[in-house]
Amino acid sequence: MNMDKKYGNIAEKEGLTPQEYVDKMAIQAKKLWSYMDIKYDDFIRTTEDRHTRIAQKIFDIFLEKGDIYKGEYEGLYCIPCETFFTQTQLINGKCPDCGRDVVKMKEEAYFFNMKKYADRLIEYYDKHPDFIKPDYRKNEMINNFIKPGLEDLCVTRTSFDWGIKVTKDPKHVIYVWLDALTNYLTALGYLSEDDSLFKKYWPADLQIVGKDIARFHLIYWPIFLMALDLPLPKTILVHNWIMMKDGKMSKSKGNVIYPEMLIEKYGLDATKYFLLREMPVSQDGVFTPEAFIQRYNYDLCNDLSNLLNRTVSMVNKYFGGSVPSKIINANEVDEELEKYTSEKIQKFEELWNSYEIANAIQEIWNIIARTNKYIDETMPWELSKNQENQKLESCIYHLVENIRKIAILIKPFMENTSNEILRQLGINDEKYKTWQSIMNLQELKDCKVIEKGEPIFMRLKENEEVEYIKSKMNV
Ligand SMILES: [Zn+2]
Repeated sequence: MNMDKKYGNIAEKEGLTPQEYVDKMAIQAKKLWSYMDIKYDDFIRTTEDRHTRIAQKIFDIFLEKGDIYKGEYEGLYCIPCETFFTQTQLINGKCPDCGRDVVKMKEEAYFFNMKKYADRLIEYYDKHPDFIKPDYRKNEMINNFIKPGLEDLCVTRTSFDWGIKVTKDPKHVIYVWLDALTNYLTALGYLSEDDSLFKKYWPADLQIVGKDIARFHLIYWPIFLMALDLPLPKTILVHNWIMMKDGKMSKSKGNVIYPEMLIEKYGLDATKYFLLREMPVSQDGVFTPEAFIQRYNYDLCNDLSNLLNRTVSMVNKYFGGSVPSKIINANEVDEELEKYTSEKIQKFEELWNSYEIANAIQEIWNIIARTNKYIDETMPWELSKNQENQKLESCIYHLVENIRKIAILIKPFMENTSNEILRQLGINDEKYKTWQSIMNLQELKDCKVIEKGEPIFMRLKENEEVEYIKSKMNV
């Protein structure tokens, strides 16, 4: 959304008008989302009329309230980032966000009175511990930006005319971050003829932003909302970046990897799995071809795919494909397995709800590991040989039950795999596919596994695939 104005200058270099350039960017974003199977209810661009009209209205409200006033600005400016910096914010004399040169600029400008809201903002942070996640971002904002003295924010530019103009003073273009942030409101029809969506959905439960734009969302955005007398989002989650071993991805370093290529070769589920698993909420994730292939081979193939495969083949071998009915505690370790699984599901839910996705996924793989261990402990082939039928039934039942639970747990990020697991287990009844159904053992009546299990992930040759991924970097 912010790209619409951010890249006006880059467009020129490509011989495009800013509008042509952002049109191209928007298409790319949509394409990637459809490739990643990311669904959305609405896609708003800040060049749309439903946004620009209201952004202008909001500017006028601030002006009338006296939160915006006219003054003069002189400072060091990064053109691509459209951001002024103070001398101390620069890194080696360059833009701290993108590393490019900054230029000295002076212009007549409008300012937003941030100082007025600084105390109120800190008080809000303190009273709403869920507002910022992860927690340490809050201290970062207070110590780096608010405590040293929150400067009034320059909210207009006159050095170019690409952007939304101030209605009453049209040589001024509204600063990208004031206009862009308000699009969370304009998308819902705030201040428009039909604000029913706004009334229904605001305040947002969750907003997710990258760490490079955390400052705008954790300081300016709440202040703009306070100035409009609107409630703040309940939570703003700041995510980190996927890095390469040698730092950020960049074409000049030759270390750029595109998700399309991974999805095409290894599938959407494996790609999503890796990205989520390797990106903790508290620090950057790291992509290496080796780690990607290892996760694929160990986590997906060895642990998950083999568990399903062994189980399907045992249901066929010992029970002609029909899943045995519920028997509780026939084997010494049954109860332990059930207890362990329940605890891990609970832990998963806690972590997931607090947006610690990588850690939550770890809990699912703990259940997978425990279930694999259960096979070694119960040794169903021995139970069969010794004709310990009840124990064998209970063992196979518990295996199918746990894999069913695993399939439901991975569904939010591995939907195809989840569906395929349930299909192979013959679990068709919708009531066995719900979140609620994994809290208890189900009867699994009339479930019949497929006749011959098909591996959902096949082992890859590590060296070969690592070389393949490396050959695709930067292409
Ligand atoms: Zn910059």
